[in-house]
Amino acid sequence: MRQQRDELAVLNEELQETNRGVLALYGQLSEELEATNRGVVALYAELDEKSAQLRAASESKSRFLANVSHELRAPVTAIIGLGRLLADSASDPLTGEQSQQVELIRSSATDLLTLVNELLDLAKAESGRIELNVAEVDLRPVFGQLRGTLRAVATRPEVKLVVEEPPAATLRTDEVLLGQVLRNLLHNGLKFTERGEVRLRALRRDDHWALTVTDTGPGIAPELHERIFEEFYQAPGTTRVGGTGLGLPYARRLVTLLGGTLELTSEPGRGSTFTVTLPVGGA
Ligand code: ADP
Repeated sequence: MRQQRDELAVLNEELQETNRGVLALYGQLSEELEATNRGVVALYAELDEKSAQLRAASESKSRFLANVSHELRAPVTAIIGLGRLLADSASDPLTGEQSQQVELIRSSATDLLTLVNELLDLAKAESGRIELNVAEVDLRPVFGQLRGTLRAVATRPEVKLVVEEPPAATLRTDEVLLGQVLRNLLHNGLKFTERGEVRLRALRRDDHWALTVTDTGPGIAPELHERIFEEFYQAPGTTRVGGTGLGLPYARRLVTLLGGTLELTSEPGRGSTFTVTLPVGGA
């Protein structure tokens, strides 16, 4: 009996010891957890600060682009006007070489004006200063207008421009901005395709529209699929056709403003398909 009591006492002592150990461990763990929590909170604060800094940097960039482009527009327009005046038949006649040089000045100034205008557009879209004018839009007249205006750009006889007739249904969006995006994509298709076709098609899928621009052009390597949406990026081998590298970033901005996405599927040698996906109900 006594021996049993002694054993129990020893057991009890051991149990208490274990308890103390567990309590100490618990305390230590709680402290560590608290320290980790404090670390996480500090990290969150740092993240918040960093994203505020990023936002401020991006806003400064847009403001800088907008100001510079705006300031450049007047002198560049003046150069183009003066060039036109010099080349005018009513002015003193120019020598052959002078005419060539004036023409060079004019075409460079026109390229610069395009760049300045595109930069301004992009800066405006990035700073969120574009006001949406959302209404029920019938795609048929939008497509009809694109068919008409892009015919002038589709000058290669080996390339056919096909604007399919869209289904008779409407979607809530900004007609002007949507037109700009599709014109931009069709323009690119026509610019980069040497033979075959460039096709615009509208498909209704459940609660969204897929507007696709497909071409039989050179195609784009998978590793460049995101890069071509970066400002000023032009894929190797495509720079000779001209352009600024600002069209696609601008188009993607506009589509985002419209509540949709702009995606690319393409492979070198197999053409490209740019897909604008828009919710039927609008932005
Ligand atoms: P830009 O056409 O003025 O060069 P974009 O931003 O519109 O600028 O396009 C960026 C680049 O993406 C182009 O320079 C070209 O390399 C590539 N690209 C765009 N559209 C196509 C296309 N349909 N087929 C092949 N490459 C394309």
